[in-house]
Amino acid sequence: MAIFSYTLLGLMFIVMLAIIYFSKQRINNYETRIYGTIIITNIIGQILHLLCFVVIKYIDSIPKLLFYGVTKGYLLYLVSWGILNMVYIFLVSFLDDSNQNREEVVKNGRLLGLIGIIISFSIILLLPISYSNSIEGMYTYGPSVDSVYIISIVIVISCITMIFAKFNKDKIKKYIPIFLFIIIGSLTMLVQRIHPELLLITFVETFVTFLMYFTIENPDVRLIEQLEIAKEQADKANNAKTDFLSNMSHEIRTPLNAIVGFSENLKDENIPESARENVEDIIMASNNLLDIVNGILDISKIEANKLEIINKEYDIKSMIDELIALTKARLGEKPIDFKVNIDPSIPKVLYGDNIRLKQIILNLLTNAAKYTKEGYILFTMSSVIKDDICRLIIAVEDSGIGIKEENLPKLFSKFERLNVEKQITIEGTGLGLAITKKLVELMNGTIVVQSVYGKGSKFTVSIDQRIISIEEPLTKAAPATTSTIIDANGARVLIVDDNELNIKVASVLLKKYHFNIDSCTSGFECVEKIKNNEKYDIIFMDDMMPRMNGRTTLLKLREIEGFNIPVVALTANAITGMKEEYLSFGFNDYLSKPIERRELERIIKEYIQNSNKASINTNTTYSQKSVMEELGIELPQLSQVKQNNKNILIVDDNDVNIKVLSASLKKYNYSIDSCNSGSEAINKVIDNNKYDLIFMDEMMPELNGCETLENLESIEGFKTPVIMVSASSKDEVKDKLEKYNFSGYLSKPFNKDQLDEILTHNLN
Ligand code: ADP
Repeated sequence: MAIFSYTLLGLMFIVMLAIIYFSKQRINNYETRIYGTIIITNIIGQILHLLCFVVIKYIDSIPKLLFYGVTKGYLLYLVSWGILNMVYIFLVSFLDDSNQNREEVVKNGRLLGLIGIIISFSIILLLPISYSNSIEGMYTYGPSVDSVYIISIVIVISCITMIFAKFNKDKIKKYIPIFLFIIIGSLTMLVQRIHPELLLITFVETFVTFLMYFTIENPDVRLIEQLEIAKEQADKANNAKTDFLSNMSHEIRTPLNAIVGFSENLKDENIPESARENVEDIIMASNNLLDIVNGILDISKIEANKLEIINKEYDIKSMIDELIALTKARLGEKPIDFKVNIDPSIPKVLYGDNIRLKQIILNLLTNAAKYTKEGYILFTMSSVIKDDICRLIIAVEDSGIGIKEENLPKLFSKFERLNVEKQITIEGTGLGLAITKKLVELMNGTIVVQSVYGKGSKFTVSIDQRIISIEEPLTKAAPATTSTIIDANGARVLIVDDNELNIKVASVLLKKYHFNIDSCTSGFECVEKIKNNEKYDIIFMDDMMPRMNGRTTLLKLREIEGFNIPVVALTANAITGMKEEYLSFGFNDYLSKPIERRELERIIKEYIQNSNKASINTNTTYSQKSVMEELGIELPQLSQVKQNNKNILIVDDNDVNIKVLSASLKKYNYSIDSCNSGSEAINKVIDNNKYDLIFMDEMMPELNGCETLENLESIEGFKTPVIMVSASSKDEVKDKLEKYNFSGYLSKPFNKDQLDEILTHNLN
């Protein structure tokens, strides 16, 4: 009776499991379908099992056929359950997600099941069966029952063979209940063989079916698994797309390099005006293409969640200065009044991603410049400070073409260009604002737009940044309505610089303050002048001069008895930390090239005012323009300078790239050498360490740019600045630039200004 009770209990459990399983949302695949059949079969089996008790108990009062039907039906169930599990194991072992021939595997599975069923059913049905209804228990026995044992052993052996033939570590979870089933099933069969009255088999089968539900066939777990697989595949596809675009961008930049490089070069040649216009159009179109490539790369990176926000400490003043300079360059001759209004209380040093913040503001300023024909652009920045957080509120307002109200919702969509009829002549892709919005969101900020069609637009961004230091608020960077112009009243200044043009620029600048100017082109001459008792109020000293540099000259000057003239380092060596280095060396102050008016005035005030020579007037209007701009002087363009005696090495595996760079460098009269690989470059430096500057392609076969640089650095006495030349954007190679000691970065394609800046910084 106990056996009858637990069979009944088993039936209840399996019915409950069936209700839960079939009421849930499930994935419809072969494995789950087989599992569903296993549950149903198990229910039928449990019912037949119960019926077996009944037919045996009432054997005398029932027709013999019913006895055979029920008992053989139960045996058929036992083998069917085993065969279904065998097919399940077959599918689990041979099907995987990447399977190309799924259909084939499933067909074979079906065939296996069918053959199993036909053979085992025939054997069971043909062989005779007996029963026992003694005190020991009710059970069946005989050749038919024995054949079930034999078939089960065959099934177990087949399952083990299949598992080990296609064992896959990733599927270990799926195999656990199967192994358990095999072990428990085999033990049960053994026990059952010895004690046929125990009738454990059906109960064990129910137990294994349950186990399968909680481990592998739970529909929730299955759905999550499928979702994960789908997500993984989508991520893979997205990453492949980003990689593809990244490679494409690299490939597009390489021919662009040739186009821009040769066009820039051609522009400087003596060519007819009509051709010059064409060349300028080519340059503009190429730069536009470059913007598109960069934009697409940015968008795809953002969408693949690859664009990281990298927070670090930064000086907001220099960022603003750069933004102003870039916008002014973009505005060119346009009749637009560019007004800047920066809140002086913005803390000087903030913590955040300044590169992305700059990109956001620059996009807005560029759009304002693009979509405004005349009138004004107003760039304002204010802050709200709470604890250590500074909320930057940045607004860019223009009196441009404006945006129609119905177009405002489309504004931040990808590739959406509005008012197309009005802006056919304006270059653009419709990507800028989509990128801007995504970046703002990545930085947890907000962006809003107000616009009146035909009148103008205003974009306002608000972004929180952590405050690092408020010590030097932005007062200095802000355009003051009144400021000071200093009159040096004939104070005597000595400019020491080996480059005549630099002397010329500094002289023009200083003349404005009524200095009495003297100059010389070497440290030796400077020391001579002082020894000859020439009197000066201040000395501006270049550092990088041939034979005797500025530092050595300073040491020589300090050796002269009674020497107490302030010496200011005037150098293009302007990377962070240089100022501190010069001051600790013993220079009284530091001024970077190109000279900033504010800094120059600070120095004049500090050193000339102290000697009572300067008078200060405070009524002159002060604008953001640099002194050079105000004096109508162009920044020193190296392209105009004849720089002899400099040896340059270009390392690039692509000959066209070497040709482009050489063509651009030719006009400086440098001596140019080149090679196509890192190892050749290393050999050249070992043979003759004569180079003043090396341009190194980043992507080369065998040794890449970074590895070559590492090797070069291990050569004794190697100090040559090495510039990374790369078709990847500066952002992409940022990590490499930081990790390896590159002295600068030149993009492919590069423009003349970039090259000039590199040469000014590294060869002066
Ligand atoms: P792009 O300028 O490359 O076309 P953006 O995404 O930067 O792409 O801008 C999308 C569209 O929004 C532009 O095509 C233009 O119609 C409109 N737009 C953006 N900024 C302004 C602005 N300051 N004034 C007028 N229209 C603007």
